[in-house]
Amino acid sequence: MSLNSSTINGEPIAADVVIVGAGPCGLFQAFELGLLGISAHIVDSLPAPGGQCTELYPDKPIYDIPALPVCGAQELVDRLMQQIKPFKPQFHLGQEVVEFARRDEGRFSIATAAGTRFDAGAVVIAAGVGSFQARRIGIEGAEQFEGNGILYRVKDVGTLEGKRLVIFGGGDSALDWTLELAARARSVTLVHRRAEFRAAPASVARMKQLVAAGRMRCFEALPQALISVDGTLAGVNIKAADGAVHALEADHLLVFFGLHPKLGPIAEWGLELERKVLKVDTEKFQTSLPGVFAVGDINTYPGKKKLILSGFHEAALAAFGIQHHLYPQKRQFLQYTTTSPIMHQRLGVPD
Ligand SMILES: Cc1cc2nc3c(=O)[nH]c(=O)nc-3n(C[C@H](O)[C@H](O)[C@H](O)COP(=O)(O)OP(=O)(O)OC[C@H]3O[C@@H](n4cnc5c(N)ncnc54)[C@H](O)[C@@H]3O)c2cc1C
Repeated sequence: MSLNSSTINGEPIAADVVIVGAGPCGLFQAFELGLLGISAHIVDSLPAPGGQCTELYPDKPIYDIPALPVCGAQELVDRLMQQIKPFKPQFHLGQEVVEFARRDEGRFSIATAAGTRFDAGAVVIAAGVGSFQARRIGIEGAEQFEGNGILYRVKDVGTLEGKRLVIFGGGDSALDWTLELAARARSVTLVHRRAEFRAAPASVARMKQLVAAGRMRCFEALPQALISVDGTLAGVNIKAADGAVHALEADHLLVFFGLHPKLGPIAEWGLELERKVLKVDTEKFQTSLPGVFAVGDINTYPGKKKLILSGFHEAALAAFGIQHHLYPQKRQFLQYTTTSPIMHQRLGVPD
């Protein structure tokens, strides 16, 4: 199973199906398509599969997955990844799907912000509550330094070696990177708006040890203004809880204020929406545009419940709808995975 894009800025990748979103429902969609012999490319704006389960509550237990009395959210994603392995879906992670168009002959052109392009026979939108975006720092002029002084995600830790860093946030990402970089950066200062941290207590304790040992600093403060010299970021002023303003020199600000979902470009693709989600039928979970299906939290229909279980059912029926869309002449049979030789072959199960 490839977790990387195979083609960037070249010819569009020819795909049976492109699945937008690698949350639990997008992953299970790849499984249901695989059973029918249909391959899929899966695109997600996050750097790892799992959607809300991975991003929002990886360590929490889920109790309503059939036949699994209790299952950790990340465990569920890991199990789904294992289950879809025989079908070798190709992943394109860390890429938001930003363009979508139906071409005259009925196929779909899809493009990501990273420049990967697809020519797809059908599309499944499994975009959940939208693509997760980093919460921005919200001080004047911050946009101009985004990616170049102000970072919302660490892509290459090597570029931060020996640098003066100010890290904002109080959750696990902020603390994990603080601990990781304390030994590698020239200086690390952690800034959090409150005295209490949301991060794992062990990480907070370790950070406090580093502060006590004089190896880093920590402030209870809010960002106030950027300091720049000749157009280059030089630091940040912070306002402490006691009202004092401190000027912190910095080559980079690392901001970990969490993520928020944004429906984003999907709202502009001309598909019928109801309260910011996609209207589908309950036979095939097809949107208002033939060939474009929607499963999971992103869809709505009478009685819809935003549960993983519902998304799994939707994916099973959508797969049959997609098969009919791609191969209208083909007769459809319901086969059991227990007994079907062709499904065994696809699953790699010895008969
Ligand atoms: C705290 C919490 C606890 C929960 N507990 C339960 C529970 O016990 N049982 C249960 O059934 N449900 C539970 N849920 C709900 C469950 O997590 C959702 O129903 C489920 O995640 C929906 O899956 P999905 O695949 O539809 O979407 P998501 O999990 O939201 O995944 C969608 C993916 O699409 C990606 N995406 C969106 N737009 C784009 C784009 N334009 N380009 C590329 N990628 C895009 C996103 O980055 C995301 O990774 C819980 C939710 C939360 C927040």
